Amino acid sequence: MSLGVYIQVPFCQTKCTYCNFHTGVVSTAVYEPYVAAVCREIRAHAALLRAAGIAEAAAVNSRRASGLTVADGDLQVVAREADTLYVGGGTPSLLDPRALAQLHDAVRGAFDCALVEITLEADPETITSEKAAAWLAAGFNRVSLGAQSFNDAELKAAGRMHRRDDIYAANHTLREAGFANLSFDLICGLPHQTSQSWANSLGELLALRPEHISIYLLEVDEGSRLGREVISLGTRYSAPAIPSDDEMAAFYEQACERLAAAGYDHYEISNWALPGRRSRHNLKYWQREPYFGFGAGAHSFNGAERWANAHDPAAYVTSIEQGRLPIEQHERLTPQQALDEELFLGLRLLEGIDAARIEREYDVSLLPRLAALRDAGLLEMEGHTARLARSRLAVSNEVFVELMS
Ligand code: SF4
Repeated sequence: MSLGVYIQVPFCQTKCTYCNFHTGVVSTAVYEPYVAAVCREIRAHAALLRAAGIAEAAAVNSRRASGLTVADGDLQVVAREADTLYVGGGTPSLLDPRALAQLHDAVRGAFDCALVEITLEADPETITSEKAAAWLAAGFNRVSLGAQSFNDAELKAAGRMHRRDDIYAANHTLREAGFANLSFDLICGLPHQTSQSWANSLGELLALRPEHISIYLLEVDEGSRLGREVISLGTRYSAPAIPSDDEMAAFYEQACERLAAAGYDHYEISNWALPGRRSRHNLKYWQREPYFGFGAGAHSFNGAERWANAHDPAAYVTSIEQGRLPIEQHERLTPQQALDEELFLGLRLLEGIDAARIEREYDVSLLPRLAALRDAGLLEMEGHTARLARSRLAVSNEVFVELMS
């Protein structure tokens, strides 16, 4: 089992109205000390983790590796080799390419690396041919582009900096530079989105034929300006123009049909890929494989423990400069938590979960519960494999609530 390495760059040019991430708009003068701190965290991660009381190397519950019980609590070091690197945010494409190269170098210096997938998240308007060439030279071989929509009215209302033309320019620039693995994000349910505008966005995206596509349903909660506006019944950010839940579900269905017809493999609730182009890094999250996250707010998992750094970039930098890991959360999973994760993370994958394996590893009886959910139309079962029912993919959270109750 190999490690994934994630680096968080929590800076953006503006704040999108729907954004509920811990990202901020800061002076570019902040970038350099931040990158220096992340490089230091990566290089010194073993000592920093040890000081914070966390297993320094990736580990898995011994049960998974040897068939012993999770309650035994033994950890077994299984991975020092990293095979994926993902630099996300925020908008990491805002950084000077030399800073991105430094981050990559720090990872190569700190881990045994057999990196096969090195992804950079980028916003369309930040891409130039010079940057694209420098990213390739720095070793990045995949770009995840925050396209979100091909409709200018939707992009404007969402507070995005780019417009439809910028997406085409970015795609052209990246392809010209030599990137052979691109992922595009779209958001289903943006204010002003209609069945027609959504169909247009899908059509334009499919015509560009990226290797990978992520489609996220708009989340509305108090963590974003748009979400707060929905709650307070305001109008400034176009909250009244958000499509209804039923419309969003129909848009999602439309996407499933069109992407399937275009040859994309729907492998996770929000993700589609051309053959052989699934995101190796993101698969680790759903398959509960180990990953180390670096930077403010970054999350990590070593197979038995989860921990997260503090979100505030200034506090993060100060802490790292003082030789301390700014851990905000740290928990060792109980067997029940690990089991719950197996279910709700595993069921995000359309190939489903192997209930027999989980029953064996966790010493639980699962099949009667899964059969009841199948009878209620929430799951599909084929032998010991359980999958979310196709008709419930757009409302998967409701299924997970039922599953955990
Ligand atoms: S670019 Fe992404 S991270 Fe930045 S504000 Fe917009 S949604 Fe949030």
